[in-house]
Amino acid sequence: MRTLEVDQLDEEIRDYQHRLDVDIMSYKEMESLREKILNQRRRMSELEDEALALMDRVEVERGETAAAEAAFVERKAELDQGLQEIEERTEAVRDEIEANAAAREAASGEIPGHLLRRYEELRRAHRDPVAEVRGGSCSGCNLRLSGSTVERVRGGQEIVSCEHCSRLLYVA
Ligand SMILES: [Zn+2]
Repeated sequence: MRTLEVDQLDEEIRDYQHRLDVDIMSYKEMESLREKILNQRRRMSELEDEALALMDRVEVERGETAAAEAAFVERKAELDQGLQEIEERTEAVRDEIEANAAAREAASGEIPGHLLRRYEELRRAHRDPVAEVRGGSCSGCNLRLSGSTVERVRGGQEIVSCEHCSRLLYVA
């Protein structure tokens, strides 16, 4: 737009100059035209400076845009990579869940029915239905077990429950 304005001014100046050269006019009219030409030239010069400044800014912003684009491409690659890793991990965990479910199914077939039912009931109440006896306490509820309970667990002859939370107990 600035360049168009400059072209237009240039045309006007030529026109004034032509009239100055060709037309017959009074001194006053001549002075007025010369004044106009001077003003137009000044305006033209300003517009040319503005156009140059704008072109400089376009160059700078073009550079900034290119840098931002490069950063975007790099970041997108990182995110795509991360996404792929998550998908792979999800797939691996899914496989693990399937394998564990199959192993659980196979193991539960070997456990007497009444014990399995007790276990399932406990599992509804606790995330960890089986607890270790640690320092004479149940590691599930952290309460102290009686000496005889600990002895029975140590004996390993029967399935023993915590007298406080009913979790199934074992010793490491
Ligand atoms: Zn307990």
